[in-house]
Amino acid sequence: MAKTFQSLNPLTGDVIATYPITTTAQVYEATTIAYDAFERWSALGFRNRRKVLLAYSEAILKEIDRIADLVTLETGKPHSDAKLEIALAAHHVAWAARNVESILRTAHRSPGLLMANMSATVERSPLGAVGVIGPWNYPVFTPMGSIAYALAAGNTVIFKPSEYTPGVGIELAELFAEVAGDGEFFQVITGLGETGAALCESGVKKVAFTGSTATAKKVAALCAATLTPVIAECGGKDPVIVADDANLSAAAEATVWSALSNAGQTCIAAERVYVDEKVADVFIEKVIEIATNIHAGNPQSAHYGPATMPTQNMIIQLHIKDALKKGGVAALGGPKSIQGNFVQPVILVDVPENSLAITDETFGPTLVINRVPDMDTAIALSNASRYGLGASVWSRRQGKKIASQLQCGMVAINSTISFASVASVPFGGVKDSGYGRIHGPEGLLEFTYPRTVVRARFKMPLAITSFNRTEKTDRLIVKILTILRGRLS
Ligand code: NDP
Repeated sequence: MAKTFQSLNPLTGDVIATYPITTTAQVYEATTIAYDAFERWSALGFRNRRKVLLAYSEAILKEIDRIADLVTLETGKPHSDAKLEIALAAHHVAWAARNVESILRTAHRSPGLLMANMSATVERSPLGAVGVIGPWNYPVFTPMGSIAYALAAGNTVIFKPSEYTPGVGIELAELFAEVAGDGEFFQVITGLGETGAALCESGVKKVAFTGSTATAKKVAALCAATLTPVIAECGGKDPVIVADDANLSAAAEATVWSALSNAGQTCIAAERVYVDEKVADVFIEKVIEIATNIHAGNPQSAHYGPATMPTQNMIIQLHIKDALKKGGVAALGGPKSIQGNFVQPVILVDVPENSLAITDETFGPTLVINRVPDMDTAIALSNASRYGLGASVWSRRQGKKIASQLQCGMVAINSTISFASVASVPFGGVKDSGYGRIHGPEGLLEFTYPRTVVRARFKMPLAITSFNRTEKTDRLIVKILTILRGRLS
């Protein structure tokens, strides 16, 4: 069995570095270390952990150019895109650090009339050691949405980065070790899928997984054997709804960026547009005008780079060909847009809804634009997907009304993917896009469990948890509840 694997530069195919494949025994060892470290990390308390995490956020920003170099090398994305991703990740680290205490502080609840002698509280306890499994497309931003929030809540973390971006994963952990003065709070295990599988079975108290739906199902199945809870952040087929009262220029500009940036390798990228037929021609014209000037190439000079995973280009080609075969029209580009490692922008219009380009995640710089007679149809088609991650709606007056009818975890109105940059709101999906949430208060709560503590403050005349309970007491309880119509608090 291979003991190492190589990370490759997607632009040149050159070997960047060789990394160890962490064995199952080593993963279990890392978990033991993480539980020992948990005692120290959780004992630091909110204040001291906040200091470490704020220093970590600052360190990430200080080293942003160096980390971005590595992200560009391993993913092939432009340096500027890498910097944006890292800056937003640093923002999330700082937000989690600053807000965790107020979100996780012990909550006092009303004990109700019947239990008026009790004080009722809910404490939030960290889980212990948690596993984070990450993808390659946003190798800093995406896993940090779990890592920072888990650490802030008092857990220790074992992170398995994608085999395409192991260097970035190691860099993130080393930087944290420097700042924290301890390399065991946040460990990285490099390897392939088997290493991730071993992490699921290692005894971690939760697995925060980001990646494809197919792998999420394998992770969930492995974790089910030990009732280990899972956060599944999976793929999407995000719709964009453009109403007849939309600012069409702004909608076109943002949608083209959302679909094409990072070579379309964004889980919340615009993949399909439903535009009101009254404004469709103008919208399509604007999209084509903008996309014509966007080019794939060397990330130093182009708008976006090569596909990070070379095999993805076969899927992109399949989706384009299938859409055209079924009657769709290539308004910009087509099968010939796939040129070696690169895929130039492809805009497909009037694509039948049973095409792969509509039903499956393409994960490439392609966009489908379909005309709809009204917004009800746009909503119905948006929801007729097995995915439900994000969506965006462009309308001057109907944005909120449309948004509230979409079956997905996040909606951006008159903007694109804006929810990812707002640290105070949860990020995640429904249906095949997964379950559980990262970011925001919900993202912190995910890495804790509630401990209910109910304390007797004085003795009540009505003894209900006693063999001395009388029939009179039973009658009284029912009578009180009847009078108060079930309300006791
Ligand atoms: P994969 O599902 O291929 O891999 C994700 C991670 O899981 C990698 O670290 C991978 O390791 C690991 N893995 C593979 N097999 C197993 C296994 N059997 N048990 C445990 N872990 C395993 O996804 P990609 O890396 O290709 O990422 C792209 C996908 O991620 C897209 O579908 C995209 O939409 C989604 N995504 C979702 C986001 C969200 O927040 N909802 C954000 C970003 C991406 P290895 O790389 O070594 O195979």
